[in-house]
Amino acid sequence: MASSLSRVLPLSRVSPHRFPSLCPSSSSFARPRAFSLSASSLSSAAHMSSPSPPARHDHLPSPSDYTRDADRWRPMCLYHTQGKCTMTDDPLHLEKFNHHAARDLQVSAANLEHVCPQDLDHFLVLDLEGKVEILEFPVLIIDAKSLSVIALFHRFVRPSQMSETRVNEYVKGKYGKFGVDRVWHDTAIPFEEVIAEFETWLAQHHLWAKEQGGKLNRAAFVTCGNWDLKTKVPQQCKVSRIKLPGYFMEWINLKDVYLNFYHREARGMMAMMKQLDISVLGSHHLGMDDTKNIASVLQRMLVNGAVMRITAWRTPKSPDKVQFAYQNRI
Ligand SMILES: [Zn+2]
Repeated sequence: MASSLSRVLPLSRVSPHRFPSLCPSSSSFARPRAFSLSASSLSSAAHMSSPSPPARHDHLPSPSDYTRDADRWRPMCLYHTQGKCTMTDDPLHLEKFNHHAARDLQVSAANLEHVCPQDLDHFLVLDLEGKVEILEFPVLIIDAKSLSVIALFHRFVRPSQMSETRVNEYVKGKYGKFGVDRVWHDTAIPFEEVIAEFETWLAQHHLWAKEQGGKLNRAAFVTCGNWDLKTKVPQQCKVSRIKLPGYFMEWINLKDVYLNFYHREARGMMAMMKQLDISVLGSHHLGMDDTKNIASVLQRMLVNGAVMRITAWRTPKSPDKVQFAYQNRI
């Protein structure tokens, strides 16, 4: 399985020797050799996205679907990611949809050679979707040493202050093009319920304890940009009339670490993936797929010797004021 998977896994294609790691102390920044864009990374630009999958779960696979490579990429079952798949005894369904979040994010042991010791034990990759209100809340736990996927939390989120007609239009416009608007309607729950379930999940993984309040336990959120935790979560908390949870007070903006590690600017996830020659899997702007793709960038940076650090934080006393670690940032 590992050898056949390696044919499609971008990480295994990269020489671990490309960025000799200096493994700096936490007080200094990683300084890799200058980044150079290879010819192969330029040619990968044409392979930026996979075709959007058809409607999920209720979609009947065609006979030709069963003649392909068993290890081919397949879309995540978005009922399964939310703990709501009822078709796990149906072989056709299992053949059509991926039920293993770690499947696209495996890192070979050889690639761990240059991974630096980190101040944190776990990274929580988060990529929210929804402009008006949050519609999707996906989080992947990545182990800081093995770089493996420890667990996945994924919920579709039902807006709390929009009319049903507006929600239907919003969801159709956002998820209709991916063919997953039905699963959204079948599963979405209000943000406050998502947060309650998320906290239970965090506690199960010993990353946070309600009685201790405050910060995560040797873990930090990793986001692509500051928007998710600087802007959107506080905004949604106000709309949903809940207090901003203490674990959302600090985070790692992967783009800032990227800029200061490779000394090369990338405006977004797609730019980072293009520059690192990582294949984009799934549908861009489907939160679940974006989270996995951001996690693959994180894995690559760690394989190249990057040290992750908190890049932005606020205090409960003045939650509107965000401070930043890096002078050079995006
Ligand atoms: Zn399923």
